[in-house]
Amino acid sequence: VNANALSLTGGESPIRKRADFRQALLSWYDAFGRDLPWRVRDGGAVDPYRVWLSEIMLQQTTVAAVRGYFLAFTARWPSVEALAQAPGAQVMQAWAGLGYYSRARNLMAASRLVAAQGWPPDEAGLRALPGVGAYTAAAIAAIAYDQQANVVDGNVERVIARLFAITTPLPVAKSALRAAAADLAVGIRPGDYAQALMDLGSTVCTPRAPRCESCPVARFCAGRAAGLAAGLPAKTAKPARPQRHGVAFLAVRQGQGLLVRRPPRGLLGGMLALPCSAWTLEPATTAAIAAAAPVRAAWTDLGAVTHIFTHFSLQLHVWRADIEGQDKSDGDWRPLAALESAGLPTVFKKAVRLGLGLR
Ligand code: SF4
Repeated sequence: VNANALSLTGGESPIRKRADFRQALLSWYDAFGRDLPWRVRDGGAVDPYRVWLSEIMLQQTTVAAVRGYFLAFTARWPSVEALAQAPGAQVMQAWAGLGYYSRARNLMAASRLVAAQGWPPDEAGLRALPGVGAYTAAAIAAIAYDQQANVVDGNVERVIARLFAITTPLPVAKSALRAAAADLAVGIRPGDYAQALMDLGSTVCTPRAPRCESCPVARFCAGRAAGLAAGLPAKTAKPARPQRHGVAFLAVRQGQGLLVRRPPRGLLGGMLALPCSAWTLEPATTAAIAAAAPVRAAWTDLGAVTHIFTHFSLQLHVWRADIEGQDKSDGDWRPLAALESAGLPTVFKKAVRLGLGLR
């Protein structure tokens, strides 16, 4: 095994080895780190608002998906005070399509707290903000405040498992991976170090086929030395996602479609949506679905869209009825051409497209 490789028990001069590792990673970051709209390079002043906003957006969401939303949000609400004063419906609409909508509700609550009280000064204080979990608090403390913090997400877990050749499968290995990451986390330039490790995981130490030949820390990597890198971290098989079934209703009258606002709590809470039935494990009977329809009408089943949520996948049938002769029921009627851009969550956008014959 390579004498430079990191090990949990520490080898010869482990502290020196860790300092060398950090230096190699930071030099690579200075030369090759990603340019991201929320990132400040070369020691510039960091705005906690931009770091916090980006970290909330990046929860469960890719950099590519976040980039445009981040630019739009910061152009419209350039400070936490501006966001705190924004009407909730505008923020929800601007968030539409990014998913995990409880984040937008927490964003508004946290912005009001911060606008009133200022930014919490450390990781523990940040952790108390709505929507800020352990990872996000550590990331903000490191990146915005340059404080020592152990910033560990799935990306970092993978890099650490490989660097230390930890073969215990996830999720059992989580605490060992955190401990190994903590062991490396202390040192110079904490904010840059955290971002460098993220970049390494995103661009070099990728899930499949890590590019070890161009890795700046390859000489420290026990996983590579042992020929195990690509197979780590090991994972115990996940149970399959359950399948749920539901129906969304597109009622059309005089060129307009009916939307509803979902209840404030729960999945997609507070978002605009098509009226729909409950989403159940067994498909509901036709009679039960008809009873859930917003108006009595001759409904036609146009087929289904599928959407993957974290804990289940949904097969959502789209029923459409053209109700020209009937009175409009109460509700939020919008021109059909405006439905897609009304700020619907992605699953309902898909349903609208199917309902309007756009796919
Ligand atoms: S050498 Fe390979 S496995 Fe090890 S950290 Fe670098 S890219 Fe990842």
